[in-house]
Amino acid sequence: MSDLHVINARITRKVRGLPTSDGAGVKLRRVIGTQQLPDLDPFLMLDEFGTDRAEDYIAGFPEHPHRGFETVTYMLDGRMRHRDNHGNEGLLVPGAVQWMTAGRGLVHSEMPEQQEGRMRGFQLWVNLPATLKMSEPQYQEFAPERMPVVHPAEGVTVKVIAGDVTDAGGTVVRGPIVQPATDPLYLDIELAPDAVWTRELPAGHNAFVYVYEGVISVGDGGDARPVDTQELGVLGGGDTLSLRAFSDGARLILVAGRPLREPVARHGPFVMNTREELIQAFVDYQEGRF
Ligand code: MN
Repeated sequence: MSDLHVINARITRKVRGLPTSDGAGVKLRRVIGTQQLPDLDPFLMLDEFGTDRAEDYIAGFPEHPHRGFETVTYMLDGRMRHRDNHGNEGLLVPGAVQWMTAGRGLVHSEMPEQQEGRMRGFQLWVNLPATLKMSEPQYQEFAPERMPVVHPAEGVTVKVIAGDVTDAGGTVVRGPIVQPATDPLYLDIELAPDAVWTRELPAGHNAFVYVYEGVISVGDGGDARPVDTQELGVLGGGDTLSLRAFSDGARLILVAGRPLREPVARHGPFVMNTREELIQAFVDYQEGRF
């Protein structure tokens, strides 16, 4: 393979999540959606929750609305029960993914289904284009065994949630989530000690890595930069991503999506294009039209 056209992506920015609480007092780290990184179009928010202490999560996220975007919950540890006002209900177990398109609106709760033990995972908010903000709510929910796991290189294990990965034998393996609007890539990557993985990034997409165990190096040669545990690295400047683990190995998510480049009017759980639509969302919610 010729290296002539390879331009390595670099870390253009690093941010560390800020401790906060949400729902009825669940402690979490907000990585996207703070003043330091308000969004990364089409991504509006990234929360990492991770604790062994029941008091940090037991209050859960009682009934609350959403309109105009998607919430993506990826569980690493623990069990969370989901219910909405349209009669949908499900139990998210370790390794499960729920990609919820809130569309025109729903009211739901997300509550821990355990009294003790570890609760760990991510919630990502993905924006919807104006044409889909008032679409019917829908779910793409997958149990852990429905998620393909690929070994694209020695010491590299990838769970393919959305987008695709080419395995070591050249087979393209596609994740189960489908969303043409933003064409997302969402991979959970485990790197063994000193493992190296290079792959292409989707052209024109915004992309980031978030390291949740260990430390990685991103880029190649003199441009390589470390990303530490609980740091998010925004990727840019190239179409090829080169990841390297150090001697302890690492776990991270790699997420990319096509930017919508639309005006964003957001407040709390509503994300629309204009202030008028935002006010309408509050009115519709208060009058029980969700
Ligand atoms: Mn919610």
